[in-house]
Amino acid sequence: MLTLNSDVKYIKGVGEKRAELFHKLGIFCVKDLVEYYPRAYQDWSADIKALDCPEGEPVSIKATLIKPVKEHYVRKGMTLFKCSFSDGETIINVTIFNNKYLANSLKLYEDYVLYGKLEKRLTSVEMSAPQIEKAALNIGIHPIYPATDRLNSKAIAKVMKTALDALPEFDETLPLEIREKFGLAGLDFAMRQIHFPDSDNNAQSARKRLIFEELLVLQLGLMKLKSKKKTKTKLSVTQDFTDDFYRLLPFEPTGAQRRAIADCVSDMQSEYPMNRLIQGDVGSGKTAVAAGVIFTAVKNGYQAALMAPTEILANQHFATLAPMLSGSGIRVELLTGSTPAKEKREIKARLMDGEIDLIIGTHAIIQNDVEFKKLALVITDEQHRFGVNQRATLAMKGDEVHTLVMSATPIPRTLALMIYGDLDISILDELPPGRQPVRTDVVNSSYRKRIYDFIKKAIARGEQAYIVCPLVDGEEPTLASAEKYAEELANGAFYGYNLGILHGKMKPKSKDEIMRSFAEGSVKVLVSTTVIEVGVDVPNATIMVIENAERFGLSQLHQLRGRVGRGSAGSYCILISDSEGDNAQERLQIMKKYSDGFKIADEDLKQRGPGDFFGSRQHGLPDLKIADMLGDMETLKICRACADEIIAEDAGLDMPKHKAIANKISDMFRNSLSN
Ligand code: ADP
Ligand code: MG
Repeated sequence: MLTLNSDVKYIKGVGEKRAELFHKLGIFCVKDLVEYYPRAYQDWSADIKALDCPEGEPVSIKATLIKPVKEHYVRKGMTLFKCSFSDGETIINVTIFNNKYLANSLKLYEDYVLYGKLEKRLTSVEMSAPQIEKAALNIGIHPIYPATDRLNSKAIAKVMKTALDALPEFDETLPLEIREKFGLAGLDFAMRQIHFPDSDNNAQSARKRLIFEELLVLQLGLMKLKSKKKTKTKLSVTQDFTDDFYRLLPFEPTGAQRRAIADCVSDMQSEYPMNRLIQGDVGSGKTAVAAGVIFTAVKNGYQAALMAPTEILANQHFATLAPMLSGSGIRVELLTGSTPAKEKREIKARLMDGEIDLIIGTHAIIQNDVEFKKLALVITDEQHRFGVNQRATLAMKGDEVHTLVMSATPIPRTLALMIYGDLDISILDELPPGRQPVRTDVVNSSYRKRIYDFIKKAIARGEQAYIVCPLVDGEEPTLASAEKYAEELANGAFYGYNLGILHGKMKPKSKDEIMRSFAEGSVKVLVSTTVIEVGVDVPNATIMVIENAERFGLSQLHQLRGRVGRGSAGSYCILISDSEGDNAQERLQIMKKYSDGFKIADEDLKQRGPGDFFGSRQHGLPDLKIADMLGDMETLKICRACADEIIAEDAGLDMPKHKAIANKISDMFRNSLSN
């Protein structure tokens, strides 16, 4: 018998081979499958006539084929098939592109459902490339799943149906009183109707129920984490050395930087460990805050670790901080994947002996295999995934260590407080003085030559530029494209100029060399993939050109743009895009209009809808399957209140009616802790 724990390969019609395709979607057992929710539905109920259909949006119409398919050869690789259907009132002319298989399968006088957009012309009604299914089979609301090339939505739906039919009733997880109070459907109903709803209404109540449950479980889990008894720390600092630090700093700190450092120092002075998040838009000066906090910790006799997400960034932090701090006797070392083995050993030994005060490196290295003599402070820079995972890191180093997480991800404050209820938050809401907004333009590729000339002028003034090529996640060919593009430029427009190339797959050592030459100014133009997205700081670079800008999310563009405008010279961001589809231009105009990361995130949200923007990847919470932090904010609030009530009644979730929820919590949080 099929259970939720069964391997997907045991579902009828799946087997070993296809199971692998499911694995690519993160689906291993039946539970993973049934929790793979549709991202949309298509309504194939076809209960409307062509003449009553709205134009421009997908509709389904039941119709009979009344004129046989005629083939029109247009050119190589392009064959059109034309045919006509009737819905009993209206004749619908249908064009099918290239799909010989579909065209041949259509039979005269049979009933079909056509799904697609309808166009009403003066004398005819047309449908171009509709989906066509036999009417007998396909009436109803169809789920649309996020699919892959080799496993399309229809195939997933088929397996889903088989699995759901084979599964016994789903055990209810929510206590009756909660379901009644909030008007929530039962779990069995919800799990089946979310995939194959009998009506729009059913789909909605299924959704409502599942979102509610997911957010409730999330809230309860976070509350449990929070209520874990705070351990006192023996690593309190006694003296505040911030004023000494300010004397080392080559600039005046902003008010926001002062406040953030003071917050941290006072945290470290208390008897409990610091657990703080610093949020500051790109360029707000988070590094200096980190340095200030480190300074006081070290001067109190402790060791500190500064972790960066990439080697480039770790190197850069080392290059800025080591000279600044070593003047006052602080011993700083760098530890990354490309540190030679012998040196690594030495550094580790010295860390253990307490001969190094500050270690700067990549997350993985410092987290995994380093022991300290007297570690009191761990700072994580540019951490987009903090929250729950951050706590996991913490646990590794012992609960009493002070932790500081720095992030540029714009999360609205109310939301941040709700999700990171147990973290304290400081916000850097002030940019260093003298910054000029980055002038942003959106152009098409016909401007490319002018852009190159513009860059050359900047180089003549002694400035530098970035050119970013798109890298679609996991898509290998674009790698070559960045390289190829750089080569073209080197032999063409920028012949005789010192060009550098940087991409993620390069050896760390060559990356480092290129970055260094760029920072020193010998490389004038850096052609790069998005590896420079986070943190890179070369104030002399004043131009950021982004190719195929429509391929990037706005928040990502904002991060990229943040690489320029770091000095006092006027800076430019030029977004190149030829795309006309999917309101790309409109989206890019937002970049022109706003310079504030929060505003951009807001606008992004409005345009793209919440699902896209706030993938849980960004905030480091457990992966949510159906709910959406921002879009479902109202429900989140309700769940928060509901969770409060549950905890008030049964703090340990020990009562029988809460058992199922308690299990769900460990389920959700175990997954997030292990990745
Ligand atoms: P973030 O990490 O927040 O994006 P950085 O720490 O890299 O920003 O700082 C951005 C740039 O601003 C750096 O070149 C840094 O030296 C400079 N900077 C930081 N704080 C100040 C300040 N108070 N006054 C002038 N320049 C500053
Ligand atoms: Mg930074």
